[in-house]
Amino acid sequence: KADLPVLDLEGVSRRYGAVEAVRDVSFALPQGARVALVGHNGAGKTTLMKLMLGLIRPSAGRLRVLGEDPAAGAAAARRRLGWLPENVTFNPALTGREVLRFFARLKDEPASTADALLERVGLADAARRRVGGYSKGMRQRLGIAQAMLGSPRALLLDEPTTGLDPAVRQGLYDMLGELAGGGTTVLLSSHALEELEGRVERVIIMDRGRLVADGTLAELRRLAQLPVRARLTL
Ligand code: ATP
Repeated sequence: KADLPVLDLEGVSRRYGAVEAVRDVSFALPQGARVALVGHNGAGKTTLMKLMLGLIRPSAGRLRVLGEDPAAGAAAARRRLGWLPENVTFNPALTGREVLRFFARLKDEPASTADALLERVGLADAARRRVGGYSKGMRQRLGIAQAMLGSPRALLLDEPTTGLDPAVRQGLYDMLGELAGGGTTVLLSSHALEELEGRVERVIIMDRGRLVADGTLAELRRLAQLPVRARLTL
């Protein structure tokens, strides 16, 4: 079972009324992969993540998380994925430690797990400070620590680096590299193809719900006919 893809999509579509947010998308992600989902606003990135999380069901196609349907799975199956939603916010009056210990309790994890995760994302020194005083990068780290509760096999991160300055962004990618090195699959969405160089091993490009390219950045650069090439400045 070790070679089972963490995420496996075959011909997945999702429509909202007349809008086809995701159209016939297929790809599989192995364990420990670092992959970016790239596309403009409305390309379908968030919808894809919600499908993978089992929050919404596909209108067509087949979706598996470690071999199981995420929308039908038991609680244990749902814990296989961690999610960082776009622009995540926490109660500013609570400390980072209180926030994470609270979410740990919801997942039946001990406070010590929350504290270890704070350390792992580089927030140990800030753990006793209120989240209201955190920078955006620190809040993102707290969100990633929250997503890591329950030891998920894959992290789905919706635009984790948007609004971060270059140094903080680098720190975040370093951390994601360490998590992937430890076997956690990392799928992040981004508008910015140029920031992914050397930071992910694979890029999946979405355009108006469709998967238009899937490969390494070097491979994608060789694709002259990429429909979104001009707008994404490969
Ligand atoms: P962003 O970068 O803004 O997050 P995205 O690539 O994540 O964009 P989605 O949020 O997945 O794109 O949206 C894809 C399309 O589906 C858009 O046209 C959007 O308006 C539409 N859509 C998404 N969610 C819903 C919904 N709940 N009801 C109706 N239409 C929706």
